[in-house]
Amino acid sequence: MEIYKDFRFEAAHLLPRAPDGHKCKRLHGHSFKVRIWISGAVDPNRGWIMDLGEIKNKSEPIIDELDHQFLNELPGLENPTSENIAKWLWVRIKALISELSCVEVQETCSVGVRYYGRDCASGIGSVLHEGRINE
Ligand SMILES: [Zn+2]
Repeated sequence: MEIYKDFRFEAAHLLPRAPDGHKCKRLHGHSFKVRIWISGAVDPNRGWIMDLGEIKNKSEPIIDELDHQFLNELPGLENPTSENIAKWLWVRIKALISELSCVEVQETCSVGVRYYGRDCASGIGSVLHEGRINE
């Protein structure tokens, strides 16, 4: 079974590797939405997979590092696509919550990515094209 918790952050970015003339190459901002998915067995005693408060306490400080930032200035986010933001979050949250199963990053109301950590060993900077939603 899986549970999730939603978070939000506001940030500016530009995509330096977008083709010339692409609108995402210009500085702009988003109200990003992040959904943190946790997978595991339901504890028969408590009746839950994990305390949602634990997900909040461990994930929120990491997501807050992105809030009201110019993402391009953060180490590992020089090319801050949603794919790379999801991977940046995955590496940090997975270190604290081993049951993490998916990081979803939604950039606008109609566009987002899901990252399941499958190519995690390849490094933070690599570009991902896994599970784009509603492109
Ligand atoms: Zn953007």
